[in-house]
Amino acid sequence: MPELPEVETMRRGVAVVTGSTIEMVQLVPCDCKPIRVEPKIKTFQRRAVGKRIHEVGRVGKRVLLQLDSGDSIVFEPRMTGLVLVTDPPNVDHLRFRVALSGGRVRELWYWDRRGLGSVRLLSPRQLEEQFGPHKLGPDALLIECESLRERLKQSRRAIKVALLDQRIVAGIGNLYASEILHLAGIHPAQGCHRLTRQQWQAIHAAIGEILHTAIRYEGSTLSDGTYRNALNQSGGYQNEHRVYDRAGDTCPRCAQATIRRIVQAQRSTFFCPHCQSRRARRG
Ligand SMILES: [Zn+2]
Repeated sequence: MPELPEVETMRRGVAVVTGSTIEMVQLVPCDCKPIRVEPKIKTFQRRAVGKRIHEVGRVGKRVLLQLDSGDSIVFEPRMTGLVLVTDPPNVDHLRFRVALSGGRVRELWYWDRRGLGSVRLLSPRQLEEQFGPHKLGPDALLIECESLRERLKQSRRAIKVALLDQRIVAGIGNLYASEILHLAGIHPAQGCHRLTRQQWQAIHAAIGEILHTAIRYEGSTLSDGTYRNALNQSGGYQNEHRVYDRAGDTCPRCAQATIRRIVQAQRSTFFCPHCQSRRARRG
């Protein structure tokens, strides 16, 4: 958390800064564990101040400000980071400030409660090195079904674990992987190499449907309340979750079985043993 829908919601909220000029970038003094900021702030300032933001983009689970100089400022929220254009949830965890002119908003903030995220200014070459096709798969909203299948059809990994691999497909995390496989009716432990073409089509369709719907709801704000959109408002998709964090509840699809929780690669997976039975799908 946050995953593609939350970061895409932040990107859309922050897109208002397109066309603005950066007047200053500053670290905000903070008593907590410092976030990663690169390069050193003096160099950061020299390369960013006076530059115009020509586009606000997203690469996987990161928000990008593309500057007219060719450099990009990359905000990576990781677990608890937020990119905001309004007052933050509190001032204690404010980390980075971008002062702006020439547009509708005067300030853009990076806030991070646990401080695991980062703010980096990257040259076009560094951007390619870090997020080029050899490091990051196609975006989950853009990947084609055949490309997804080709990348994984030989793999013996469990499909749920494979969907979290950002080199295969970018943007899906632990929460949405469970939701996607429930909609697709695929058991999360099913080996990729055993999936049929029809099942790949179901997974691909579910990726699009779940992520687009979650973006429409502006992402999921879980019980820890950390995730907020760029205007410091909660998302709404947490009320629509089918299986995530619903162990013990009745499945909303079959209304018969109980949602179960298992652990795969040290992460919780939630699924319905009836709708996502391995045997039923094989026959
Ligand atoms: Zn079910």
